[in-house]
Amino acid sequence: MEAAEVKQLALDLGADLVGIASAKTLNAFPPDPRFPQTPERISPHVKSVIVLVQRIPVGAFRCKSNVPVQYLDMMVLRKMDKVSYRLAERLEQAGFPSFVTAAQETDWNYKRASYGRLSTRHLGIEAGLGTFGLEVNILTPEFGPRIYLTGVLTELELEADAPITEQVCIGESCSRCLYSCPTDAVRHFGIDKRACAQEAQEFGFTTILKYWEKFIDADAEEQRQMIVDRELFGFWQGLLRVVGSFGDCPRCLAVCPVGNDYHAHLADIQKKIPEKTDEKVAKAKGFKEARRNGDPVDGLNDWNVRWVGPEGYQGMVARQLQDFKKKQRAMAEQAEKDAEQ
Ligand code: SF4
Ligand code: SF4
Repeated sequence: MEAAEVKQLALDLGADLVGIASAKTLNAFPPDPRFPQTPERISPHVKSVIVLVQRIPVGAFRCKSNVPVQYLDMMVLRKMDKVSYRLAERLEQAGFPSFVTAAQETDWNYKRASYGRLSTRHLGIEAGLGTFGLEVNILTPEFGPRIYLTGVLTELELEADAPITEQVCIGESCSRCLYSCPTDAVRHFGIDKRACAQEAQEFGFTTILKYWEKFIDADAEEQRQMIVDRELFGFWQGLLRVVGSFGDCPRCLAVCPVGNDYHAHLADIQKKIPEKTDEKVAKAKGFKEARRNGDPVDGLNDWNVRWVGPEGYQGMVARQLQDFKKKQRAMAEQAEKDAEQ
């Protein structure tokens, strides 16, 4: 089977985007070499990783509360599991052992945090599907960061896609993700994971641990109060529909202006960012100056710049917006002509 055939199969099964990364490259460039998230640590036989993208429909980002987007996230993840499972099955039927591995699972030997066996963001970038945003989500030109990804690991050797070398993220002069972040977790092409987890993993593992530590030390009356606490209900919801244990906060996804889905359906209501403060504006300004002066920035060092886009921002989003507007105008003109006939 050739790469083009495998990609078409993935799209036919329901993936929104697909790319291929070589296991050799992924083994040579782990996101953090101290804790290598590489295919070879999972299986020495893997030759390629087929990376599948599922987009999150934007309607939910137009709502007053986060609940619709959290619920949709769960459905997107379920769909993604099915699509990747079926692709692995079809590859095996064709004679090539293949499997999908848990993307959101912590390997306790690496770090005591949500640090998966593979980093799906890095898989996507190596498979040519996007580059890092300022908040180190992967940004795809098609749907910005409003996506989930997974990887099918296969023993079939496939031609890999070339990574995008241009920075998809507008960068420091945009900083909208930074302005929107409720816990000010966005760094300079980096993230304060602990701060982000306060909102994005509201009922995640750390919260559960803290809850039970407190419960053990509490007296009988306090314990009685704690079992009717909102937190316990949050844990229940996390078990029920995953969201709550991670992916709880949609703010940096909702405001990112990359992708035609943003131009079509989010630009109007997400233009204004209520969380923007003078302090955050000053922080973004500092990032801009540091970049301009070539100051040392961890997220942009020689190892990490590979995933940010080594050529820097070349105007991809502006070009996309012009193209989008042109198509909208053409569609409106056509509709007018059709109405006149
Ligand atoms: S909001 Fe702007 S700065 Fe943040 S990731 Fe998107 S394009 Fe980059
Ligand atoms: S998910 Fe929420 S808390 Fe985390 S970086 Fe994005 S906006 Fe901030």
